[in-house]
Amino acid sequence: MPRRNPNYNQRKSIVTTTIQNLDPRIVESLVRAAVERALGSSGTNIAPAASIHKPNLVVSISARHIHLTDEHVEKLFGPGKKLTPEKGLYQDGFYAAAETVMIVGPRRRMLPNVRVLGPTRKASQVELAYTDAISLGIDAPVRHSGDIAGTPGCVLVGPAGAVELTQGVIRAARHVHMGPRDTAFYGVKNGDFMSLSVRSHQCSVLFEDLLVREDTHAKLEVHIDTDEGNACDLDRALAIELKKQQPCKCNDH
Ligand SMILES: [Zn+2]
Repeated sequence: MPRRNPNYNQRKSIVTTTIQNLDPRIVESLVRAAVERALGSSGTNIAPAASIHKPNLVVSISARHIHLTDEHVEKLFGPGKKLTPEKGLYQDGFYAAAETVMIVGPRRRMLPNVRVLGPTRKASQVELAYTDAISLGIDAPVRHSGDIAGTPGCVLVGPAGAVELTQGVIRAARHVHMGPRDTAFYGVKNGDFMSLSVRSHQCSVLFEDLLVREDTHAKLEVHIDTDEGNACDLDRALAIELKKQQPCKCNDH
């Protein structure tokens, strides 16, 4: 289940310029230029400053969880069973279910009470932090949701039965959900990468490689896992900034 830090404000990356005793036409051109830079626009049709969309940046920690197919829900919880929505997530239409399962690793190590998130999907998938995977004895790769080909499997145990997954155990790669107005604000597009800096007392962290996942109805929300959230003490962060990632010069990607 995600948890969020409500104690910070989103910080814009717009360059602020001190304007004093200037011709109003020069002021206007400076403002237009700043808005163009902020929006990444070529700028023949700049909206007035008052109408600029200011996204509300939310950073959520996704604790370990599982997505299930309809078929696996019935195997684990009983014939005809459906997930019971218990708590809505920040993204509309998604929820934490009342149901939990036990995850069993290769040497019978187990994690009890792992929350199921809904709605159901076409493939079951287990999302763990690396610490969870180590405790289960599974070498889980960092993958984006849905990209599970060739990943390790595990056994799921529910009150009505067990399911053996042949693949689907991953460490979910950090990413940011964005709507069209958010991508316009930050000057990014679906598939781009962003960086998130988290300033915290004695444990500030700069996260890179956040994949932009744009969807028409998405709300702006960064998803990191519990290891990442704990590393930067997200709950007590002093300041957080999301920015477009500069291209890497190391030819590593
Ligand atoms: Zn997400």
